[in-house]
Amino acid sequence: MASEAKPVCLVLSSDKSLLDELQTSKLCTTTVETEGILSMMSLAENTEMAVIDGSGRDVANVTDLVQNLHKANKKMFICVYGDKIGRNAAARIAVADSGGAMTSWSSSAVRKAADIIHGTLQPSKRAQVYKCPYCQKGGLDEDGLWTHCPMYHINEPNQTTLCPICRMQPSQNIQVHIRNFHGPVARGELDNEFHSDISLYSFGLVVCQRDDGKFLLVQEFTSCGFWVPGGRLNPGEGLISGAKRETLEEGGVEIEITGLLKMEFLPHRSDKNPFVRLRAVFLAKPAHANVEEKTVPDFESAGAAWVSLAEMKSGLRLRSREPLYWAEYLAAGKPVYSLDVLETV
Ligand SMILES: [Zn+2]
Ligand SMILES: [Zn+2]
Repeated sequence: MASEAKPVCLVLSSDKSLLDELQTSKLCTTTVETEGILSMMSLAENTEMAVIDGSGRDVANVTDLVQNLHKANKKMFICVYGDKIGRNAAARIAVADSGGAMTSWSSSAVRKAADIIHGTLQPSKRAQVYKCPYCQKGGLDEDGLWTHCPMYHINEPNQTTLCPICRMQPSQNIQVHIRNFHGPVARGELDNEFHSDISLYSFGLVVCQRDDGKFLLVQEFTSCGFWVPGGRLNPGEGLISGAKRETLEEGGVEIEITGLLKMEFLPHRSDKNPFVRLRAVFLAKPAHANVEEKTVPDFESAGAAWVSLAEMKSGLRLRSREPLYWAEYLAAGKPVYSLDVLETV
């Protein structure tokens, strides 16, 4: 039997695989027979973890039990175990709502939880210890609290409260704050989810084809060649409206966007390319007949021209192969996607 000092896991189950698994855990397991529910309640006060086998019980019975145990000791980790209940989505919600922290069909997952809890109860001797802002459980060092909060309280409503570690009043949910500013994140072992140092640059590019099959290409700066119209979105601008604006500015042509050719997300950054980029490549046609392309140079471009695939293939100077790639792509009858896949303006 457990001595007072050893953390105790109460188990209401006769499932062999669960009991075998928990025998190997670092918590001291005490098994309660089915008829011993009352003794389980009386033991709850000195218990770190309770495991209730949901097999053979209906969900209402299990949630009643969970609720009573949770009332008896709010600092206890309550786990419901069982194949049927663990795989039933609605039952998992019911257990969470009644104060259960975990529902699982896996005996090894239950043992793993027991070991994690054991770990949080062994604060480093030199570390400062804190109290959980949810259940007031004390004696947790920074890493212990970092692990304890989501393990025990992930189902609980958002709470804004003073952070026990830094004594600051976070502007976000206390769990989000602890996740992102303490423990492994504070030591640089894990990324902060807010990534304030990463900027996303978004681009809308346009492959605009006329009835005669020619493409609107823009004569780019520094005489580097022709390219598809398009560019970086302005703040607050949508992909489609930005692509239309850039095409008008660079090519002088009002367009109707008819489909999506490609969405590119380029997460890799380098010294040469410090930004994460999102690029949408649209298919378009001129919005009006007999439209005149731009020829007066300005900051946007030197002008534009309608260019056939044959001209591109016969050595026309291109800023990159991209216009030729898309002309060949369309000539081969490759897919054009519906704009319905985008939620944009
Ligand atoms: Zn707690
Ligand atoms: Zn803090």
